[in-house]
Amino acid sequence: MVSPPHHDSLATLLAGVRRPTLLLDEARARANIRRMAARMREVGVRLRPHFKTHVSATVGEWFRDEGIDGITVTSAEMARYFADAGWRDLTIAIPVNPRQIGELRSLARATELGLLVDDVVTARALARDLGAPARVWLKIDAGYGRAGIPWDAPRRALEVIDELGAGSELEPTGLLAHAGDSYAAASPDDIRAVHARTVERLGRLRGELQRPLQISIGDTPGCTLGEDFDGVDEARPGNFVFHDLMQLELGVCTAEQIAVAVACPVIGRYPARDQLLIHGGAIHFSKDRLAGPDGTDLFGYLARPHEGSFGPPERSVRLTSVSQEHGVLTADGPLPDDLQVGDVALVLPVHSCLTAHQFPGYLTLDGEFVERAPLAEPRV
Ligand code: PLP
Repeated sequence: MVSPPHHDSLATLLAGVRRPTLLLDEARARANIRRMAARMREVGVRLRPHFKTHVSATVGEWFRDEGIDGITVTSAEMARYFADAGWRDLTIAIPVNPRQIGELRSLARATELGLLVDDVVTARALARDLGAPARVWLKIDAGYGRAGIPWDAPRRALEVIDELGAGSELEPTGLLAHAGDSYAAASPDDIRAVHARTVERLGRLRGELQRPLQISIGDTPGCTLGEDFDGVDEARPGNFVFHDLMQLELGVCTAEQIAVAVACPVIGRYPARDQLLIHGGAIHFSKDRLAGPDGTDLFGYLARPHEGSFGPPERSVRLTSVSQEHGVLTADGPLPDDLQVGDVALVLPVHSCLTAHQFPGYLTLDGEFVERAPLAEPRV
């Protein structure tokens, strides 16, 4: 059990910041994991968390502490990293890239591997070339429109299942969807409606296929607020470990549940235009944005240190533009006196998955460095 750090330790930590640094409140992240694990137990669904948000073997152990033993990843390289960290049950939740069947083969031999397929060409290539057992999930588009066999096309689903080959090492395991459309929801009720529609469509397709297929869903908004989990076997949310401004604005988390913030040195001050320049740009935050007041771009909100962690967003001081290394904080009124050049501004990110991806690791509020996977693509 990690107790929240003492206020003074955050001040000491900030005093040592020299460059944009991703801070992680371990107590909040562990509480987020505990909360989601409890919720999934309550609704009777197996939690297979998506590790693409944190991509850290150390943070992975915090999930193990809550009884998690199967995980989701988003690439063969990420699967290899977590397999090397001792995870044996992994699903790579992106349609198989037929050019990587060699990498998948060695993973499938070393682990219990789950793969996604939504095309007969891929199914045929896997059946011919994988040469190792794997669970194969049909990726279903239940309304998001990014990837998958349309939920109302059972014939196409059957064609893919047939290509896997009866009795082969490739086990048609279930129907898997990601309701990314929940992020466009206008209200928590809207999120619940997207979730209910996704579950209903997957259940209907399974009924039409008349096979013993499992159902796997996964998005933080639906898994947090959804009410109907009838017939769902597995959930794969990922973002909830850190949450962020996007989840806050959707009504999915509270400000006290946001577990990461970027500490950015203040490098310019322009009172005439109520703006501060920070060292912290697109290569630290990414360019994911929300709509700020009057539809302006919003890349983050200022937060103050509060009770040893990040306080709630200060909506009057917004990160309004990011270029490569520069960020501009715009205040609604006169600039805060306590943010002078040389001070450090805490900024809450819009999308923690992409922000975390920009950093080599996390600095916990206890001053420990927690590494992320070195996921640089191998060069051909
Ligand atoms: N499953 C798949 C296939 C995804 O693409 C994602 C996220 O993009 C998730 C699960 C996790 O969803 P979230 O980021 O809402 O937690």
